Amino acid sequence: MQEVEKVYPFLEEAKKIIITTHQKPDGDAMGAALGLYHFLKQLNHDVTVISPTNWARFLNWMPGCDSVIDYESQKEQSTLLINTADILFCLDFNVLHRTKNMEAVLTNATCLKVLIDHHQQPQEEAFDFGISNVNKSSTCEMVYDFIKSSVHSNLLNKEIAACLYTGIMTDTGSFRFSSTTSHVHRAVADLKDTGIDHSLIFENIYDNFSENRLRFIGNALLNRLEVLYEYNTALMAIPKKDLIKYDISTGDTEGLVNYLLTIEGIKLGALLIDRTEERKWSFRSKGDFDVNVFARTHFEGGGHKNAAGGRSSEDVEENIKKFKTVINQYEQQLQ
Ligand code: 5GP
Ligand code: MN
Repeated sequence: MQEVEKVYPFLEEAKKIIITTHQKPDGDAMGAALGLYHFLKQLNHDVTVISPTNWARFLNWMPGCDSVIDYESQKEQSTLLINTADILFCLDFNVLHRTKNMEAVLTNATCLKVLIDHHQQPQEEAFDFGISNVNKSSTCEMVYDFIKSSVHSNLLNKEIAACLYTGIMTDTGSFRFSSTTSHVHRAVADLKDTGIDHSLIFENIYDNFSENRLRFIGNALLNRLEVLYEYNTALMAIPKKDLIKYDISTGDTEGLVNYLLTIEGIKLGALLIDRTEERKWSFRSKGDFDVNVFARTHFEGGGHKNAAGGRSSEDVEENIKKFKTVINQYEQQLQ
């Protein structure tokens, strides 16, 4: 993988460009994809954003979101677009299998492939150009840098800024995580100067849920939480029946794992959700406990040091049993 700057010359002539991101895109993934989309459109490229799956409803307000194609519901059209593209941008994921059912199409695509991402251990051989930097707060920050370092930095506008602000805000826990550097604050000031309404963006993302979702969280906190004080760990397992009862859809469970770390002294939060196709783990930690390594080692996952995810095809009970067994090995680290 060569430096991402080397892709700039290829953008000087109109190209067919596809932008994609990880399955179930979050604010950072969708924000980065759409921020880059609005930039490249102004350079007269034929640009399409393809998401591997559906996404949370609370992202639908984002400018350009209505033109995003969901691969799962439009496989043929998506495949054709990818196979005839000149350039493919892959944002906010490190390995192609994070695009789930799109992996094979992306692997086989013969166009130039560009990675912009902040996760550990990227699959560098899969990309022609790119940048991977785990010290970056968000992929949106990296797309901001990509635009600002180009000769077209003047094209940064309100639409781009609204998208990029969203991802920086969500991936930094509203500017609180240690990844929120002075550079992030300067970038955000620059985005703000385009005229975006940051309070409205916050409301669109965080105050846009159903009554059911709030009751679902109440039930989860009351009935699905287990605290393992000997390991400074909080564990929550959500059975499928809760998802059905409260009519929970994509995005409604985002942020739930963060409640676990609000208990004094808790260093590891682990949330298991019984999704239809698999059991999905979310891990969050405080301090030195590396959940990226933990998720990689035990739950087919990965992510960042303090925020990672994993998966399993075993049922909920088996997963809980496994978690409680493996956590034994980390008793010292969690003290
Ligand atoms: P979340 O718990 O919010 O789903 O994910 C937390 C972080 O871990 C995100 O940065 C996400 O990209 C990453 N992540 C989540 N699930 C997986 C997974 O199955 N594999 C890998 N490699 N990373 C994941
Ligand atoms: Mn991200």
